[in-house]
Amino acid sequence: MTNVQSLEYWTALKEQITMEGRAFINGQLVDAQSRDTFDCISPIDNGLLCKVASCDDVDANIAVSAARAAFNSGEWSNKAPAERKKVLQAFADLIEANAEELALLETLDMGKPINDSFNVDVNATLRALRWTAEATDKIYDEIAPTPHNELGMVTREAVGVVAAIVPWNFPMIMATWKYAPALAMGNSVILKPSEKSPLTAIKLAQLAKEAGIPDGVFNVLPGFGHTVGKALALHMDVDTLVFTGSTGVAKQLMVFAGQSNMKRVWTEAGGKSPNVVFADAPDLDAAAEAAASAICFNQGEVCTAGSRLLVEDSIADAFMEKVRAAVKNWKPGNPLDPETNVGAIVDETQLERVLGYIEKGQSQGAKLTVGGSKVAPVSGGMYVEPTVFENVDSTMAIAEEEIFGPVLSVIRFKDEEQALKIANDSVYGLAAAVWTSNLSRAHRFAKGLKAGSVWVNQYDGGDMTAPFGGYKQSGNGRDKSLHAFDKYSEIKATWIKL
Ligand code: NAD
Repeated sequence: MTNVQSLEYWTALKEQITMEGRAFINGQLVDAQSRDTFDCISPIDNGLLCKVASCDDVDANIAVSAARAAFNSGEWSNKAPAERKKVLQAFADLIEANAEELALLETLDMGKPINDSFNVDVNATLRALRWTAEATDKIYDEIAPTPHNELGMVTREAVGVVAAIVPWNFPMIMATWKYAPALAMGNSVILKPSEKSPLTAIKLAQLAKEAGIPDGVFNVLPGFGHTVGKALALHMDVDTLVFTGSTGVAKQLMVFAGQSNMKRVWTEAGGKSPNVVFADAPDLDAAAEAAASAICFNQGEVCTAGSRLLVEDSIADAFMEKVRAAVKNWKPGNPLDPETNVGAIVDETQLERVLGYIEKGQSQGAKLTVGGSKVAPVSGGMYVEPTVFENVDSTMAIAEEEIFGPVLSVIRFKDEEQALKIANDSVYGLAAAVWTSNLSRAHRFAKGLKAGSVWVNQYDGGDMTAPFGGYKQSGNGRDKSLHAFDKYSEIKATWIKL
């Protein structure tokens, strides 16, 4: 799918679409029981989009009861996998039919360029849902090797009620990585979108119903983390909690699970990913372009952002010239303009956080060589220039902490051993890249990296066919691929004496 409509087109479409802010529980759009709402503000211009239901523990209880009742009814959970597949495929078709509206909602809500919302977010959502739907009736159980007079069956069963708490940077994609395999397995789902980007989740729930997903099987509870998010995490009748977001919140959720019913908790958390360029990289121009997009794409609000660029000393001067030039091609603009490649930062709090790190980088002695300022391509909006810091050392805050904005920290290294040490010197372990034309070094380095995804001579490769997740404090478990199904199933061993 590609779409190159104009700024005027998207601006006009904004006036035509409905922005729905109610929760979706048991097949109905509903207000929060308290009637509380919060303002959904667009970071494009700080304008009000709509009011959104501010759900809390009361709404969580209602949604969990509906999800449990739907699960127990068997209407979805006991459906033949091939039948669930058909419904999920119909759901994907409806997403495709509503692609423009979904892309526009995503851009208005969290500020990413419309070109990306349409061509990346909607496409990746479709790919994730269709791939997972297709797998629904292709997963087999196992027969264990047994003595002749016994039969050992290893079977997967749906866990029951799954709560999915997701972030704002790729709202639809992150949600789909969770609800698609959860629904494919037959579970009931309660999706809690970020309070910063609730709109597409509410639209998805309506499309799911239209596609034939029974009432109670797919619910959406907009609201804040410390209210409805916490209520779901502490709920005694939620069987599994899946999360994408920051490491700090991931840790809290594990505690909440321990304080309640020991629900399974699977987390995809933060990152500070190293992008390591050796002098023998096959194409330094391509490496420089990739280093820039690794930190500028989606305004750097990417868990796998290549936020630490490690460059071999011998090429650093020449290579950094290329990187600086490449970063300057990423310019903040109106997210509704299809030409824009850097949109708005999600909200003022996040913008202040990014600006705070830019200040810290300077005060801790790093050299600011590109960007660094707040800008205003649209009046009132939240924009910052992509920023490069050089002469960074591993102990600085900008090298250690996840900024979640377009701020690149460049560190030089002398040799492979030092590069690997710096690359792994992080509490995170989400992703990493290495650029070299030496085959042995590529393999050696890839093996040495403590990261869930490793890319060689590219940044950010992969597909639904490969698992995605982190080592260390970047989380546990894996999204995508058949491995994702592990989160949404219990495994039962049934041993029969013949
Ligand atoms: P966040 O942790 O602040 O919020 C994520 C979600 O958790 C939101 O829905 C929020 O409302 C909820 N939440 C917050 N506090 C809660 C609480 N006490 N109890 C229950 N729920 C709570 O993260 P964010 O700012 O939305 O997203 C940015 C973070 O997400 C970054 O750290 C980024 O690296 C991470 N992320 C990771 C991946 C990955 O796959 N590893 C992908 C995207 C984003």
